Amino acid sequence: QGHGGGGKGTGIAPPGVRHIIAVASGKGGVGKSTTAVNLALGLAGQGLRVGLFDADIFGPSIPRMLGLAGERPEVVKDRLQPLRAHGLAVMSIGFLVEEDEPVVWRGPMVMGALEQLLRDVDWGDLDVMVVDMPPGTGDTQLTMSQRVTLAGAVIVSTPQDIALLDARKGLAMFRRVNVPILGLIENMSYYVCPNCGHREEVFAHGGARRTAEEMDCPFLGDIPLDMRIRVQSDAGRPIVVAEPDGPHAAAYRAIAARVA
Ligand code: ADP
Repeated sequence: QGHGGGGKGTGIAPPGVRHIIAVASGKGGVGKSTTAVNLALGLAGQGLRVGLFDADIFGPSIPRMLGLAGERPEVVKDRLQPLRAHGLAVMSIGFLVEEDEPVVWRGPMVMGALEQLLRDVDWGDLDVMVVDMPPGTGDTQLTMSQRVTLAGAVIVSTPQDIALLDARKGLAMFRRVNVPILGLIENMSYYVCPNCGHREEVFAHGGARRTAEEMDCPFLGDIPLDMRIRVQSDAGRPIVVAEPDGPHAAAYRAIAARVA
């Protein structure tokens, strides 16, 4: 225990992994997993060796978003091998359970499974591991942030008041356990009609920047609501790899540069 890792404490950190960054959200459906995937790809685009660990155990969506649904990890010398997609090393509970089977574990079993995936997976040497956290600020999230040696946390929110309220709780949780807040990202920040160019602020706009100022943490950037982001995720080719020269890839790369 306590070897390697990003900096503090005596938590779990796979030995070859230098920094672990958690991507969290106060509530579900705000685009946390989408952000985690594209952020990981943005970091990989900087030449870093990047792993993506799907800790969203009740709703593991990373396999599908990376075109790995239905894949099973190989076992070599009793150790699970991460799968690879678009240059990332990837592990998810989704590789170990059937996609339409619910995970019906209680808290301690969830934490046990997460710990095992961190310890018993052959992550190899990674500059950064991005962790897609379960949404919310429950027991699992708290335990993860206490037990895993996190270099910092990124919090994703929509600009809606209700989402921001929960994002504040997430931020407070990480602060309580001394995990540095790398910053807030506003997802679904606005919508631009592809036909007429009209801009609509579907969930309001600017709330995450304001919240970041109020909570005294960095604002990392905003990502609009765009069907291409959703379509590319569903197709297993996230927008950063599908449209590397497009504006969204540039936005994710800029965010990656801020957290790297
Ligand atoms: P969470 O991890 O917070 O539950 P997901 O990343 O799974 O959220 O996103 C929920 C849904 O919204 C997915 O279908 C995803 O493709 C879509 N989505 C996320 N961000 C955007 C965006 N900026 N524009 C369009 N669709 C998005």
